[in-house]
Amino acid sequence: MAKIGFIGLGNMGAPMAANLVKAGHDVTGFDIVPAALAALEAAGGRAAASAGDATRGAEIVITMLPAGEHVRQVWLHQGGLIDVVKGDVGKGERPLLIDCSTIDVESARTVTAEAEKAGLAMLDAPVSGGTAGAQNATLTFMVGGSEDAFARGKPILEAMGRNIFHAGGPGAGQAVKICNNMMLAINMVGVAEGFLLAQKLGLDWSKLHAICSTATSNSWALSSYCPAPGPVPAAPSNRDYAPGFMAQLMLKDVKLSQAAAEATGSPTPLAALAMSFYQAVCDAGDGTKDFSVVFRWLAGQKRS
Ligand code: NAD
Repeated sequence: MAKIGFIGLGNMGAPMAANLVKAGHDVTGFDIVPAALAALEAAGGRAAASAGDATRGAEIVITMLPAGEHVRQVWLHQGGLIDVVKGDVGKGERPLLIDCSTIDVESARTVTAEAEKAGLAMLDAPVSGGTAGAQNATLTFMVGGSEDAFARGKPILEAMGRNIFHAGGPGAGQAVKICNNMMLAINMVGVAEGFLLAQKLGLDWSKLHAICSTATSNSWALSSYCPAPGPVPAAPSNRDYAPGFMAQLMLKDVKLSQAAAEATGSPTPLAALAMSFYQAVCDAGDGTKDFSVVFRWLAGQKRS
């Protein structure tokens, strides 16, 4: 079993770290929020006083942070994790570094290049499956990095997920994730529009859900994460849109997709429109609600 340092114990990181503990790994974690450290201890892990302390002597170092700026800060700043881990090199096997956050491809490649300069292997391994997937260890991992690093990381990722894919070289995991979330962002708006129209047509949401879950409009957003309250009891829509996956994080991801689309000249008009909706949700003060709250925002709009 591996000695693992885990940085970022939020909505996703906390259950992921808990699953590593359950699988028998020795997990030391750090988060800037003290309550997150207490939760890790309650799950059987150890709390560290800093990211560096969580990392020292680890065979595997995992980060699960909000965005590229946090990942660059934690890994690259002076005295950051690469410096700390570099200092350990020579004392045993070189640790494998894994970033599971969803960030821009450029940041992922920059951090990996810095790690490689220090003689360390790194994977970008963003996830899909939401907080339920994190809790149940059924996440899908989309992984970028060398074949060797992937082979080394896979058994660790298997303690947190069910489907572990090698997408290609450094940054390829993030590229897949950005495309996935761009599709999801559009899809969630589509489901929201369908349920709002159904309501105006006098339909029962549970009936609509039951029928469409087996028809051609079915999707994860519809069947597992329905934005209209009622049909899916575990969905955030039934708990006043408590996250889940915060709207501000979805906005970040759609922005990443649009920056990539701009850079590559790809036409993505629906994603651009969906982005404006998530922006409006955040501007209205609901950025920390689950992204499916776009349904409630849309319900408050007038047809123009
Ligand atoms: P979150 O905000 O709940 O968790 C992030 C954690 O990082 C917080 O606990 C925060 O305190 C901590 N943190 C921030 N800066 C730090 C630092 N410098 N040092 C240590 N800890 C620090 O977010 P989340 O929902 O867990 O998402 C994490 C990542 O996973 C994001 O990139 C998100 O886009 C992605 N993601 C989320 C979901 C989801 O359903 N929530 C699904 C797939 C992917």
